[in-house]
Amino acid sequence: MITGDELFERLKDVKLGGSTCLFTLEKCHSLAPLVNRIEQLKREKNAVVLAHSYVGPEIIATVSDFSGDSYELSKWARTTSANTIVFVAVKFMAETAKLLNPDKTVLIPSRLNGCSLADSITGEDVSRLRRQFPEHTFVCYINTTVDVKAQCDVCVTSSNVYRIVDALPNDKIYFLPDRLMGQNLANYLKARGSTKTVDMWDGTCYVHEEYDPDLIRYLRLEHPGLKVASHPECHPSVVQESDFVGSTSQMLQYVAQTQAPEYFLLTECGLTSRLQLEFPNKKFVGSCTTCKYMKSNSLSDIVRVLEQPEDLDIVTLNSDDLAGAQACIDRMFDMVK
Ligand code: SF4
Repeated sequence: MITGDELFERLKDVKLGGSTCLFTLEKCHSLAPLVNRIEQLKREKNAVVLAHSYVGPEIIATVSDFSGDSYELSKWARTTSANTIVFVAVKFMAETAKLLNPDKTVLIPSRLNGCSLADSITGEDVSRLRRQFPEHTFVCYINTTVDVKAQCDVCVTSSNVYRIVDALPNDKIYFLPDRLMGQNLANYLKARGSTKTVDMWDGTCYVHEEYDPDLIRYLRLEHPGLKVASHPECHPSVVQESDFVGSTSQMLQYVAQTQAPEYFLLTECGLTSRLQLEFPNKKFVGSCTTCKYMKSNSLSDIVRVLEQPEDLDIVTLNSDDLAGAQACIDRMFDMVK
């Protein structure tokens, strides 16, 4: 059991972020009963809660059994013995968990299903592209729906995209759906003298594309010694101005392993919130952007899907896509072994 006072003590240091990331004592008193109810339901239903680092800190700091980026969550989902997985993130990530755990019930609490990046492309688009680019190896970012993965050769995440594309035998790569990550990938390959060429789809993440390099330059003037870490979904001009580029889990490691007076993280607010809780002696500055899809998951939604899930809350997959999507993900796991 957690009390409202204890919850406030845990969350009071979250400073950056919008209204969803600020916690008063009154708010914590209203949230504590939901936290206790979820813990009870988890025990009764042999359920685990997996939460992406971008969701609200009131979830990550309490009921989440594991928090991480999409790659870490997929890996963790493969090993759990629980009957039910509550996947607190966005729907395409929950679909990946279902793909890896076809016999388990996977629940998605958010009712605002979507993602500007994943929704930019469909499996039919990829079929058409494959006819247009028959000699290319199709590489999809994990932020895609199952029907898209089913049409691609290998899946990648922000933590392994450079490594996997580098290791592919084909020089002709089609990368989808993130144009900015594709441009960062092409720049990386060029800098290494690689002969690979990258054609790409024109999708973007509306959260990461908002950042611009002027903000970094301004903050460096105001905060001498500042260390800047950005996500590869950011524009290449932002990446070039950064001290470190990587997935959210790699950014976490970077903060843990470096000593700097202050840090500026260019990714969704949730990561900064999480690191403020995990590293209370480190200082984070600047602003951050919020993903409405990730933040639409709430403690009361988790209670709702555990108590009485409706069809909409239960992840199901089209059987036509299963084999292809599974092969696409398996190839990623094989290549990063
Ligand atoms: S942060 Fe961007 S890529 Fe992630 S779910 Fe939100 S819109 Fe999609």
